[in-house]
Amino acid sequence: MIVDAHVHLYPAEVDRDPAGWAAARGEKHWALLCTRRRRDGRPVQSLPTLDALLRAMDDAHVERAVLLGWYWEKPDTCVWQNRFYADCVRAHPQRLAAFATLHPAAGREQTLAEIRRARDDGLIGLGELSPHSQGYSVDDPVLSAALDLAAELRMPVNLHVTDPASRRYPGWVETPAEDFVRLAQRHPATTFVLAHWGGLLALQDERFRQCANVYYDTAASPLMYGAEIWPRMLAALGPERVLFGSDYPLNLYPRVSVAAEMARFVAEAKLGAAGDAVLGGNARRVLGLRG
Ligand SMILES: [Zn+2]
Repeated sequence: MIVDAHVHLYPAEVDRDPAGWAAARGEKHWALLCTRRRRDGRPVQSLPTLDALLRAMDDAHVERAVLLGWYWEKPDTCVWQNRFYADCVRAHPQRLAAFATLHPAAGREQTLAEIRRARDDGLIGLGELSPHSQGYSVDDPVLSAALDLAAELRMPVNLHVTDPASRRYPGWVETPAEDFVRLAQRHPATTFVLAHWGGLLALQDERFRQCANVYYDTAASPLMYGAEIWPRMLAALGPERVLFGSDYPLNLYPRVSVAAEMARFVAEAKLGAAGDAVLGGNARRVLGLRG
């Protein structure tokens, strides 16, 4: 069973006017990353509907997708997406799982209550969070309380990580290795999934190897690295620590296609020697997927 552990999805209302929607919500960072247009005027990424996601999964023989919340700047937008994801999971329990997102600006009580609410609604993790993009410190006390509750409720936490050597795209944020090591060490009972191969930070920083509670996903890999990254990172991290994830609906192969290309990415992973564990087994185990 193939699991795509890193997918983003939005209600159809967002796609009608993404830039206008973002402006009304005050979601500047999302707008920067997700409503960009190419020089020819075409959007850099589309915002497909739930049905389009299910079709893309069918084409790629992906049985289950894990919907990750966005790292919104406003607590209200987080709650709004959590409710939408709860509806998606209720409608397609065999095909979808979902993570809840949060912003500590909601305050401690509200943040913890929202996590419990999301858990009761069937959501199974937290993220994708990005303190560096959302404008709070990794030492934020509300974040700390949320990460402890995540451990208690057995909800893994997905964090956005930037490769410091990557091209400076609009919306690029620096995410120091130190911050992730500190979070993982301070919350040893919390399971962390560092997105985008963990920004390759573990290649440089020995301390990641001592963090038994840290895993990595492969989201957006083709945008940054060639297919040779697969054997290299599987050897460096250990295949039991890697979860296949695409970053759908991000356009992964802009030179060959304007679509998200989930199926092409699955094929690349298989050619790169990703086995059943990386393609789904690890996600089932680490994220606690049922069914
Ligand atoms: Zn990300």
